[in-house]
Amino acid sequence: MFNLYDFTLDKLTSLMNEYHQKPFRARQLFSWIYQKEVTDFDKMSDISKDFREILKNDFLIIKPKIIVDEISKDGTRKLLLEYSDGAKIETALMPYNYGDALCVSSQVGCNMGCSFCASGLLRKERNLTSGEMVAEVIVMNELLKKENRRISHVVVMGTGEPFDNYENVMDFIRIINSPFALAIGARHISVSTCGIPSKIRRYALEGLQTNLAISLHAPNDEIRHQIMKISHAYPLNELMDAVKYYEKTTNRRVTYEYIMIKDINDSLKCAEELVNLVKGSLGFVNLIPYNKIKEMPYERSDEKTIHAFYEYLLKHHVRPTVRKEFGKDINASCGQLRAKEMIKNEEKL
Ligand code: SAH
Repeated sequence: MFNLYDFTLDKLTSLMNEYHQKPFRARQLFSWIYQKEVTDFDKMSDISKDFREILKNDFLIIKPKIIVDEISKDGTRKLLLEYSDGAKIETALMPYNYGDALCVSSQVGCNMGCSFCASGLLRKERNLTSGEMVAEVIVMNELLKKENRRISHVVVMGTGEPFDNYENVMDFIRIINSPFALAIGARHISVSTCGIPSKIRRYALEGLQTNLAISLHAPNDEIRHQIMKISHAYPLNELMDAVKYYEKTTNRRVTYEYIMIKDINDSLKCAEELVNLVKGSLGFVNLIPYNKIKEMPYERSDEKTIHAFYEYLLKHHVRPTVRKEFGKDINASCGQLRAKEMIKNEEKL
């Protein structure tokens, strides 16, 4: 059985060829499932009855079940979704003034083991397929439709490391970006990585106009080793070389994400080192106030410290931004809702 949501238009076109169908069949199917939002093969009136029977036999259009639907006071909406094998994933809507952004999970759990992140509380169970990521957007769009809204921006920043599930994430991007599917503009799509140099280089060559965010979080290897396990495999000089290659190849600016954690990475000395590290790169630094997680020993930097850090960067010609916070009242950080639900279930056992 195939899941129709798993296919890029190119891959579906090749598959249609194997079924001895004309290439435009793939576009018709895209139009039915993504634009007319019809998932019942019997209603696909421009497809012959015989081929509809074949489609019914060989294809599914898989959507997850909504297990939890939480809406915060600021409009953040977080869903816990469940697939038929029991895999649970989170997806979160963030309403910005420029549009509705969806934070998409790329894996069930995560193996990167960042010591501050709730996603790492539970190990990776498996990768998500491209179609399962597409369905995160579809399910949220179905809920938003009643309010005449739809997802306009996607960030692959939920649970999981997108570059540890590289091919599926690239197919996912191609599907949601396709003008025959959801037509989400490439510039409205961002991928966030903890920093896997070989994949950053590969991403540079995809010919996509999408964005890249790097979870930097530390200005030197010593601090990065403390909080991000992955940095032992890929020290900062290798990471920054790959980022330079990406910038040179694509002519696009990366975003450096920098979580502000109290007494870990928030001193002015860190700010100074950070300036030196990103000097020469066109990237933006995005300062993120740490979202406290109960099971973890870290605290958020206080406002004064964040402000001083911000001012230091500004004075030294690194234009920082401070991330808007969402859903503080609803387990906003990636992985928190899922972890809470799993722990709750374990307690029940
Ligand atoms: N694995 C990818 C994408 C998922 S994490 C990555 O590492 O980039 C998305 C972003 O949320 C990362 O920058 C991550 O470091 C950050 N993050 C994780 N836990 C957080 C927390 N408790 N508070 C603030 N940001 C957090």
